[in-house]
Amino acid sequence: MRKPFIAGNWKMYKTRASALETVRDLLRRLGPEPPAEVAVCPPFTALAAVAEALEGSPVRLGAQNVHWAAEGAFTGEVAVPMLLECGCRYVILGHSERRQHFHESEEVVRRKLDRVLESDLEPILCVGERLEERESDRVEEVVLGQLGSALGGLTPRQVSRIIVAYEPVWAIGTGRTATPEIAQEVHGMIRESIRRDFPGGTADQVRILYGGSVKPDNIGALMARKDVDGALVGGASLEAESFARIVAGSV
Ligand code: PEP
Repeated sequence: MRKPFIAGNWKMYKTRASALETVRDLLRRLGPEPPAEVAVCPPFTALAAVAEALEGSPVRLGAQNVHWAAEGAFTGEVAVPMLLECGCRYVILGHSERRQHFHESEEVVRRKLDRVLESDLEPILCVGERLEERESDRVEEVVLGQLGSALGGLTPRQVSRIIVAYEPVWAIGTGRTATPEIAQEVHGMIRESIRRDFPGGTADQVRILYGGSVKPDNIGALMARKDVDGALVGGASLEAESFARIVAGSV
């Protein structure tokens, strides 16, 4: 049985002080036993402070990006051991904003994934098509292409640790959510592809999150689909009130 997972991606929003305010409010609203596994992914500068605020709570911490090297002369970058030291359990990889604005290629995403899988961090691997790719019937080619480049050659055990987030680019921050039917269609496609390539029940262990304008009023219908195991939430995770309502509506 896959436990529902709701992760909040705070992107480049919130100073340390405002992140703390939000997370304290969130903990009050969620209580000691939220119905789903919950994580927040603040900017790097707020990680350590948020980790301290989360101590002893059921909410986990994630980062939004990491470099592929263990350390090195990479000005402005952050490495896996630094995230672990800050108390991170998860890291988002291959978010479409990084692919688009920072030109992260499939190769770069793969190198990061390999590094993360050598550590105790759990990767949240984002895949998803752009609008023009959907309109030209290339969803399967694009999404399974991204997935294949990331997972090819990994062991079933490594793959079972990966959380996949299907995030159609046209739905991110646009208020235009994929219908539950579209989400299920692509999530089913992702799971079947994992089933074909990795034996031994791996596909049934991998959690597949949906991301793209998730809100308190659409989470229920999305989660009702059999292959939707949770959500990666951007905008609606910035307010504790709406994020807590998404968590409550996810089961
Ligand atoms: C995201 O950034 O991962 C995301 C899904 O954003 P939003 O919920 O704002 O569409």
